[in-house]
Amino acid sequence: MRDQFLAAVAAAFLASTPSSAEVPGRADPQVAELKRSIFVGPSMQTLEALSDGFGPRLTGSDSYRGSADWAAEQFRALGLKNVRLEPFTVPAGWTRGGGRARIAAPEQTPITLESVGWSPPTPAGGIDAEVLWIDDVSPANLARLAPEIKGRVVILDTAKVFKGGAYAAVLDVHAAYEPIKRAGGVAILFPNPDPGNALGEYVDLLTGGKILPLPMAEIGMEETLLIRRLARRGPVRLEFSFENKVTPAFQDPNVIAEVRGREKPDEWVLVGGHLDSWDYGRGAADNGVGATAVLEAARAIAALGRPPRRSIRFVLWGGEEPGQLGSQGYARSHPDEIRRLTAVLNADTGAGRPIGWRVADRPDLVAALKPLAARHLADLDAEAVLDITTCSTDHCAFLVRGVPTLNLLVDRTVYEQIHHRASDTVDKINEVELKADVAVVAVTAYMLAEQETAIAPHQSPAEVAALLKRVGLDESLVRLGRWSPEPPRN
Ligand SMILES: [Zn+2]
Repeated sequence: MRDQFLAAVAAAFLASTPSSAEVPGRADPQVAELKRSIFVGPSMQTLEALSDGFGPRLTGSDSYRGSADWAAEQFRALGLKNVRLEPFTVPAGWTRGGGRARIAAPEQTPITLESVGWSPPTPAGGIDAEVLWIDDVSPANLARLAPEIKGRVVILDTAKVFKGGAYAAVLDVHAAYEPIKRAGGVAILFPNPDPGNALGEYVDLLTGGKILPLPMAEIGMEETLLIRRLARRGPVRLEFSFENKVTPAFQDPNVIAEVRGREKPDEWVLVGGHLDSWDYGRGAADNGVGATAVLEAARAIAALGRPPRRSIRFVLWGGEEPGQLGSQGYARSHPDEIRRLTAVLNADTGAGRPIGWRVADRPDLVAALKPLAARHLADLDAEAVLDITTCSTDHCAFLVRGVPTLNLLVDRTVYEQIHHRASDTVDKINEVELKADVAVVAVTAYMLAEQETAIAPHQSPAEVAALLKRVGLDESLVRLGRWSPEPPRN
C-alpha cells in the first residue's frame, strides 16, 4: 500500500514541471522543482558509488579518506562553494584484526566472535580461560564477585544488563570495565540478542575513539545459549584471539560545502549526515543514505539557480560511529558560526518510507515547523513533526548549544535489521523511499533557509539544561562529556 502510494507520488513529480505547483507561494515553484529534480535524479547511483565504491568506511581507514576526497570532488563538480576537508582529532587509530574462537571445553566447537570496536588486541598467544556470567554490573555485585572474576572471561548477560534501555545502561556497563579489569578479568564478551549468530549489535557508545581497557568481543545468540547450557553441567573454557591494530591519535576530515545565501549569506542552515560507517557491512543504510541525502540535496538546491535567502552548509561528518567525533569537533571549533546557525538538519536513520522530522522537546519549534511540513511535505507523506529528544547522532553537539535541530524520521523496520551488520548493503534500499527521504531533506533545508525569519530562536543554556533534565538526558550527556551544566566553552 505504502509502496503504491510512493510510486504514485514519484510518478506525479516526474510528470510535473516547476510551473505546475498547485499551492501558491513565493518559494513553491522552487519546492516543486526540488522534488522533481530529486525523483529524476541519481540518488541510487550516488549511494552505490559510495557504498559499493568504498565499502566500509571506518574512521581512520583508507576507504573513509577515499570517500571524503570523492565527496569533496562531487561537491566541487556540482558547483558548490567553499568546499573543504576540515580535520578533527580521533584519540586512537584502530583496525580490526583477524581472529579465531572456539569452545575449548567441555567440547571443541568453533564459534563466531568479533571484536568490539576500539578493543585492544588479545595478548600474545590469545586467551584461554573459563567463563563467568554476570547479570548485574552494579559496583556492589562486581565487588562481591571479584574473587570469581580473576582469570575469567566475563560474559555479560546483555538481556538483563540492558533491560533498562541501551542508552541508559551503557553508562553502567562502561563503568564496569575497570572494576572487572582490576579484579583480574581477562576479557568481556557481549552476547548478541538476535538469531542466526548475527554480530554487529554491540557498540560501546562511550569509547570516544579511545582504546577500551580490556579485550572485548561480541558472540552470537545461539552459540551464547549453547555455552550457557554447557555451563549448567560444569566449567566452560573458551579460547580466542584477535589481532586488532592500535595506533596513536590522528586526524580525519569532515567534508564541508556551501550554497551561499542571496540575502543573508552569513546565516546558515546546516544539513548533515555522517559519512563514516562501522566495518562489518558496507554502510549503505547507516549511513550511506544520510550522506546521499546531503549530496543530493546539495545537487538539487544548487541546480535551482536561485539560492535561498540564507546560506546552506552541507556537512558530511566523520567519526560518528566511535562517538560523534566529527560533529563534536566541528561545534567546538566554530563557535561564531553556531550563533548564526538557523537550524541543523541531520539524516541518520536509513531509507525507510519518510514520516517527517523529530525535533527536540521544544513546543515552539514543533509549532513553527508543523505548518511548513503540512504545506510542503504532506505529498511525500512526511508531515509528522514529533517532539522526541535524542542525542544519539550528530545533531547532539548543536542541540546542547541551543540550536534548533531536526532529525529525519523514517520507518526503521529494515534499518533495525541491518544496522551495523554485514547485511547493511545497497540491495536493502528501496529507491523510491530513498528519493522521498532525500526530497524531505532538500525541501526542508531550502524552506528553512528561504524563510524571512528564523524557524525558532536558539535556546539559552538554562533552557537547554531544563530540556535535557526534562527528557532524562542530562546525566548521561555529562558522563559522555558532551554537555556540561556550565555553558559549553568553545
Ligand atoms: Zn549512523
